[in-house]
Amino acid sequence: MKYKWPVIGHVKQLEELEQDLAQDRLGHAYLFAGPSQIGKMPIVRTFSQILQCPNNFCRECPTCRQIEKGQHIDTMVLRDEGESLKIEDIRELISHLSTTTSSPYKIVTIQNLERITNEAANAFLKTLEEPIPGVLFLMTSIQKQRLLPTLISRIRTISLHALSDTVIHDYIREIRPNLDPKMVEMVSAYAMGKPGRAMVFLNDPDSFRFYQDMHHQIAKFLERSTKTDRMMYVEGLLKEPERVPIFLELFVYVVRRLIFKKMEGAEISCSFEDLFNLIHRLDQARFELDHNVNARLTLENLLLDV
Ligand SMILES: [Zn+2]
Repeated sequence: MKYKWPVIGHVKQLEELEQDLAQDRLGHAYLFAGPSQIGKMPIVRTFSQILQCPNNFCRECPTCRQIEKGQHIDTMVLRDEGESLKIEDIRELISHLSTTTSSPYKIVTIQNLERITNEAANAFLKTLEEPIPGVLFLMTSIQKQRLLPTLISRIRTISLHALSDTVIHDYIREIRPNLDPKMVEMVSAYAMGKPGRAMVFLNDPDSFRFYQDMHHQIAKFLERSTKTDRMMYVEGLLKEPERVPIFLELFVYVVRRLIFKKMEGAEISCSFEDLFNLIHRLDQARFELDHNVNARLTLENLLLDV
């Protein structure tokens, strides 16, 4: 690759971007779609620097530094701060596009585009239908399925995926050569393919311990637990609902590991059928939560079945 991107993995996708640049066939709107914490925003930031820097991505000039801090006048960033994207936001953005610029491009970054309301999406659609020369939209999404197909059809989607445990494992060993090998093993396992999460674990032991405790809890559910134990756990979990998706994600991960171990010949008392059924139940629970089914109901049904 020509440029040094500050992310690990996604080589094929980054090469595609570099090719667009080299062959002078940039799209006017890109959507980087994939799970959280895999490097979508660093990719967008770097791509903006490559496009705007007068010295071919030097990372030192005022332009590069301003983009790094999200303060560059012609590189607007709409971060996801838990708010939906309303029609007023889109109108403001469109009026910003008509102001003059001294940079090579006017770039608009929208983090988690699925926050857009239907009304705002329709207004945005018009902008996308009539591309303005020199204006580039670089957007991300963790739930692309929520976006209107008409919107998607006007944007070039670049799909990014979680990385393998091995890639993350090697990366941690490279940046923290002195870390205890057992810790490297666990951090890469709990990161579940997300380098951003691995970094959080390395910098915040509390969040690592939180995953470790949850993992033990899930293992206990599978080995031995009474209905009362499980319901009590659900009560605790519902007090902090933001933990529920992590719980389900980790649960799927634990069951997948069991399936692999069993395939390798380890003695595991559950049958393959039971394990695959459980994966199916967990996927269903994740789907229900995504579609606003009551979390308590979903979790109770799930854990009664385990
Ligand atoms: Zn620069």
